[in-house]
Amino acid sequence: MLHLLLVTGTNTTYYKGVMNMSLQVAQKQYVVMGVANERSIAWGVAKRLLEEDATVIFTYRKDRSKAKIEKLLADYSDKHTALFACDVNSDDSIAEAFTQIGEQFGHIDGIVHSVAFAHAEDLRTDFINTSRDGYAFAQDTSAYSLVAVAKAAKPYFSDSASIVTMSYLGAERVLPGYNVMGVAKAALEAAMRYLAYDLGAQGIRVNAISAGAIRTLAAKGVPSFNDILHKIEDESPLRRNTNQAEVADMTLVMLSPLSRGVTGETIYVDSGYHIMG
Ligand code: NAD
Repeated sequence: MLHLLLVTGTNTTYYKGVMNMSLQVAQKQYVVMGVANERSIAWGVAKRLLEEDATVIFTYRKDRSKAKIEKLLADYSDKHTALFACDVNSDDSIAEAFTQIGEQFGHIDGIVHSVAFAHAEDLRTDFINTSRDGYAFAQDTSAYSLVAVAKAAKPYFSDSASIVTMSYLGAERVLPGYNVMGVAKAALEAAMRYLAYDLGAQGIRVNAISAGAIRTLAAKGVPSFNDILHKIEDESPLRRNTNQAEVADMTLVMLSPLSRGVTGETIYVDSGYHIMG
């Protein structure tokens, strides 16, 4: 449908044709990584993709997550879904998952990388006490995993595929208690930009969503989480916390051709909290 938008400037009045574009994710094939339960940010995205009639290919680490996903999918039995095991700490597991996905689906239109982990003891101590192992583990799981996954999926990407990863403000500001995960998110955002450059020649886009604080399993590991939620409620421009659905909606836009000119970007879905001094 073609809409006419009337734009009035100081001296000029002109008409501009604007296509009423839909999300255009229907019948496309997206890999969603990181659903642990119904609160997971990744589940919010998967639900929206399924509502839009996209095919959703889930990856999970633990059998417990697989069982949770299968249960959640009971309400979506008429949709196209599939599940594959993928532990992002293992190159073999990543290779196996994406080879199987490639063989079964032929191509991938996008990936939602919604995976992170750090040892609890590294979040309960001052950052200065972070162990060498804990630092490496948080980086490996939460940042390098994006690189490894992009590489494994590369042979199967369609022309305009889009990768979206989940980051947090702790990547660029000191949020006491976020510690080693903040440093991992900084690496994740830098990796996202370098991947955007590498894959851009192929037309593939890579972006990050910097989500506001949302009560999930991963968030339980951050000791200062309740304080963060209250601070955002008090100080953010929207004076409220964001939620799973808002992050999911923006992720769909970033997967969709609606954002076709955007790559290498960190998009904030955080009630505007990041602009505050
Ligand atoms: P979540 O616990 O529901 O999701 C984290 C997922 O990471 C889980 O499904 C877990 O199984 C997976 N994972 C961990 N290690 C893995 C491995 N080795 N292999 C495969 N999967 C592994 O929590 P969430 O809050 O939905 O987190 C999703 C993403 O969003 C994370 O990157 C997190 O840092 C980010 N994020 C969360 C918030 C928040 O407040 N909840 C805010 C900003 C960004």
